[in-house]
Amino acid sequence: MVGRFAPSPTGAQHLGNARTYLLAYWAARSRGDRLVFRIEDVDSPRVKTWAVQQAMDDLRWLGLDWEEGPDMGGPNGPYQQTLRMQSYRDVIDRLIQANRIYPCTCTRKDIASAGSAPHFDHEPAVYPGTCSRWSNQDPLPSSGTFCWRFRSSKRVFSFVDALLGYQEARPCEALGDFPVTQKNGEPSYQLAVAIDDSMMGVTEVVRGNDLIASTFRQLQIFEFLNVTPPTYAHVPLVLGSDGRRLAKRHGDTRLSMMREKGVPAGKIVDWAAKSAGLIGENEVVDHPSEVVSRFHWSKVTHDDVVADPHWAF
Ligand code: GLU
Repeated sequence: MVGRFAPSPTGAQHLGNARTYLLAYWAARSRGDRLVFRIEDVDSPRVKTWAVQQAMDDLRWLGLDWEEGPDMGGPNGPYQQTLRMQSYRDVIDRLIQANRIYPCTCTRKDIASAGSAPHFDHEPAVYPGTCSRWSNQDPLPSSGTFCWRFRSSKRVFSFVDALLGYQEARPCEALGDFPVTQKNGEPSYQLAVAIDDSMMGVTEVVRGNDLIASTFRQLQIFEFLNVTPPTYAHVPLVLGSDGRRLAKRHGDTRLSMMREKGVPAGKIVDWAAKSAGLIGENEVVDHPSEVVSRFHWSKVTHDDVVADPHWAF
């Protein structure tokens, strides 16, 4: 069994990310599973080169470790998405041959004005299907003017979330057809993640609950690849005291800054374990390894997690 850390180097890793990584670590190590570290650096104009090494340094500082990753290699590398482009292109070719994707020239504005509201929070409008009549016998629009879009299934997909229980959705209605590339031909997050998780043999994904809708996109890619999907645990996002998702306006929660200012990593580990309900209010831990034997998904709280970033100092 294999768990994973999958940071996006779009900026510094913060307290909310730390909590998710710690839960991923405890879940995997409590069963004796291996862990893969993968850098998710496609599909964002915001990727910063400095953030790649910093993410690794932050996780090591927290006391986390892994068996495969960009720093040590492994049998399923490379462990950085921008170095895995050929794998994505191969799947895109197979998707075209199967007529499972079509070129879409619509702009975001076209979709927003014609699309219908999605069934999930924080999701874009459902694609109205404007370009979906294309078949792989038809000519392509000129390059650079289209993305490839995946034909979502009419069938109900379901999974049992380790934290949230049974989830189901009919992707074509709930989410609509979704891009697997950008207009420049680069793979989308949805495609890259599903291919990586399948090629790296990941069996459990722990991530923020803002990605539940994406799971229904990725399950369809797993089905196409004929690969058993991993199990999922979608954990609550960390909120500021105003109930909104923790962000810069709440104060500086960058792990790199805490590290520089001498905040002990144990303080973050202890906060994460307590906020998850894995240790009692009167207990103190200062290394992730101390929590491994205490972990079980059935103990982890579903409640929103509120953090005041000033608490760390
Ligand atoms: N790379 C994403 C992030 O850092 C996580 C995606 C995932 O876990 O599938 O938010």
